Amino acid sequence: MAPTWLGLPARRGPEKFPAAARRALADSQLRRNLRKATTTIRTRRAEVVAELEDWEQLRAAGKAIKDQALASLDGYLEQFERAATAAGAQVHWARDAAEANAAVAAVARAHGAREVVKVKSMVTEEIGLNDALAADGIAAVETDLAELIVQLAGDRPSHILVPAIHKNRSEVRELFLQKIGGVDPALTDEPHRLAAAAREHLRRTFLAAKVGVSGANFAVAETGSLVVLESEGNGRMCLTLPEVLVSVVGIEKIVPTWADLEVFLQLLPRSSTAERMNPYTTVWTGVHPGDGPQEVHVVLLDNGRTRVLADEVGRQALRCIRCSACLNVCPVYERVGGHPYHSVYPGPIGAILTPQLVGVENASSLPYASSLCGACYEVCPVAIDIPEVLVHLRAEVVESKPHRTAESTAMQAMAWVFGDERRFAAAQRAARLAPLSGLVPGPLSPMTRWTSARDLPPIPAESFRAWWQRERGGAPEGGGA
Ligand code: SF4
Repeated sequence: MAPTWLGLPARRGPEKFPAAARRALADSQLRRNLRKATTTIRTRRAEVVAELEDWEQLRAAGKAIKDQALASLDGYLEQFERAATAAGAQVHWARDAAEANAAVAAVARAHGAREVVKVKSMVTEEIGLNDALAADGIAAVETDLAELIVQLAGDRPSHILVPAIHKNRSEVRELFLQKIGGVDPALTDEPHRLAAAAREHLRRTFLAAKVGVSGANFAVAETGSLVVLESEGNGRMCLTLPEVLVSVVGIEKIVPTWADLEVFLQLLPRSSTAERMNPYTTVWTGVHPGDGPQEVHVVLLDNGRTRVLADEVGRQALRCIRCSACLNVCPVYERVGGHPYHSVYPGPIGAILTPQLVGVENASSLPYASSLCGACYEVCPVAIDIPEVLVHLRAEVVESKPHRTAESTAMQAMAWVFGDERRFAAAQRAARLAPLSGLVPGPLSPMTRWTSARDLPPIPAESFRAWWQRERGGAPEGGGA
């Protein structure tokens, strides 16, 4: 079966991360945009997190709640379905992207809608909903400002929270002048003027739309409620104005009780937008006569999540609340942006989630898109040990390769050398002669690719082991070299 990439049209193919990252690195404007944006967001996040003395306890509570939900996910999902149905919602189950897209399209068709308005949603990007609806003759209009920018540009999001992080203000101004009809030619690149132009463009669409489409940040099993957090108010318009609302919800979004939300409503805004409180938090439970959409659908989506759940180490990725804090501290993401990850989930969370959702054999370069510095784990509000999962996935990548690679052969040889004291001492003696044999850096060395971006320290004239023997006599404790 051809590899599938989350949110990426199949025709683009599974380009490896290193090749795409190399191209991104050559774009100095992109690097400037990314450095400015990530530095600003992570500095603000650190400030607001430092205000809470019990941040680490909140983090532990968030982790515990998510782990509890994942441990009994089947039961909580059924509880959610019962509660949501009792409140008037219609619940659909989707095994994969095709089933979820078909469910949304069927609702839109049933109401004769040729256009739907969308709240910013990662999961609908993941399943390629816009393309699927377009194939059915239904236009999906993004209403989040950054998503709208990406859509107008025919581009792809490059950040979970700030999808147009790779574009600066003057690029957005140019785009609006070209793509939005009736925009004042005197439009400047001041943020409030750009926002006003987008608002005017969207207002007409909001008022005409019959069907709204959303994702959800949380789904409360106890009450059957869905929760969306957003900053612009466009989400509230999509969730309340149309007659019909369809929400696509990944099954990992479940939290057991209403009280659990208290923890996440503190963790998420500080970690994502560096705000103490979220500007717009919309909660709805089924249908309320005369108030908001009168037909509410919930599509519960698997799309590889149960496979992730089956992996004891990797399942912690399902705790993710998509705050994007890990992206903003990642030295790799800061330099290359989101596009080289070839997934709607970029950065550290993408490096562990995408390979698990699509299979490591289909995304084998992503677990290596990390320096393993651990900054992502430090900031993650639900304490996902991303480096642990990266190392775990790297082992799976190695095991999945049918043939031995030069690297795996070299590693096996190293293990053989390091496994015996005499072999190790002999290797050290040989290494000192290596300049003659071309094994250390040089134009003809087989290590040239590795050393082109790293410094290999010079091999000392005397090993630590030899020094110890000369100075103290005998071997150092623990057999170190
Ligand atoms: S892995 Fe953690 S830090 Fe990264 S987006 Fe998910 S919750 Fe946020």
